[in-house]
Amino acid sequence: MMSQSPVLQTRSGTVVEFTGVVKEFSGLRALDGFSLTLHAGECVALLGPSGSGKTTALRVLAGLESTDAGSITIDGIDVSALSTSKRDMGMVFQSYSLFPHLSVGENVEFGLRMRKIKPAERRSRASAALALVGLGHHFDRFAHQLSGGQQQRVALARALVTEPRVLLLDEPLSALDAKVRVQLRDEIRRIQTELGITTLFVTHDQDEALAIADRVAVMRSGNIEQVGTPEELYSRPATPFIADFVGLSNGIVGIVRDGHAEVHGTRLPLIDPAVAEGPVRVSVRPEDIEFAPEGLATTVVSSSFLGSLRRTTVRLPDGSIVFLQHGVRMHPKTGESVFLKFTGVPVSTEPLEAARVALHQS
Ligand code: ATP
Repeated sequence: MMSQSPVLQTRSGTVVEFTGVVKEFSGLRALDGFSLTLHAGECVALLGPSGSGKTTALRVLAGLESTDAGSITIDGIDVSALSTSKRDMGMVFQSYSLFPHLSVGENVEFGLRMRKIKPAERRSRASAALALVGLGHHFDRFAHQLSGGQQQRVALARALVTEPRVLLLDEPLSALDAKVRVQLRDEIRRIQTELGITTLFVTHDQDEALAIADRVAVMRSGNIEQVGTPEELYSRPATPFIADFVGLSNGIVGIVRDGHAEVHGTRLPLIDPAVAEGPVRVSVRPEDIEFAPEGLATTVVSSSFLGSLRRTTVRLPDGSIVFLQHGVRMHPKTGESVFLKFTGVPVSTEPLEAARVALHQS
């Protein structure tokens, strides 16, 4: 189906399916039975630590790497035998990779020229793509005259101008400074939603993944550990690895008994009632810890002003450290005694021995 944005057409409604994909490099399994479906018009972020296989998953979909087993289909058709150019993907990488000696317009037109599109149509489609990314007035500038953020917008226009079925973005914001990164992230999300183009977005930055994607697939050792909406991952992480990797959390030692986790004198509900009784490490989000007039007596270690909020670190009676985030009107001083209470539900609970082994191994 062709969808019509006010300025550019793209084909929406594409479904991509990885099933049991294996990719080895010299015996090392970069993808180990990787399965994932991208629904029509959906933006899925692949998030994970370095070396977990994110880029490899994107590259096998693009046809830039072959697979050793499993299948990849686009709209139900196996694409293993198709070359990259036949797969109809728009791609943006971390490096802008524009031709510096060509104008912005010529850079965007390049793919259309390769497809032997006539000059008038090339120009109007390139203009539309540049307008879409907010660079309508930069057609005749040289690429090297643009800032990093602008160059990456041109790269996005170049990826979209060929009306691809799928958009692939591999760490497209990593080379940009923090403010431009957030601006362009929001722009990519706006454009992706407007065009309804099925998109795979690779990043190691959890804030970016949570902000941009309909669903986030967290990768570990060549496979997906959990896939879900940003809200699901944050509030119901399937494993302690996800709880630690997505969002901020405090690992606090407690004990499970009578269907609750007892943490420094507070009884907290269990997110998973099947957790066995005994010593545990619970993951508590910073927003689930609050200052209180009475409760757990702690000592302030440090407090940092973060603009819209403040992050304060305190020492618990057993010597362990936790942090919480709160409004800026309260300004705890180092060494001050403060009381805390735990609220909410710990997002994960793990037997203490398993937690010790995981910490030892990480
Ligand atoms: P990063 O965030 O660091 O880019 P990633 O999650 O994208 O990591 P990949 O780049 O997919 O991870 O790499 C997965 C594994 O495969 C790593 O161990 C990597 O060293 C290995 N690998 C990837 N490409 C090649 C290659 N061309 N030759 C050999 N090994 C490779």
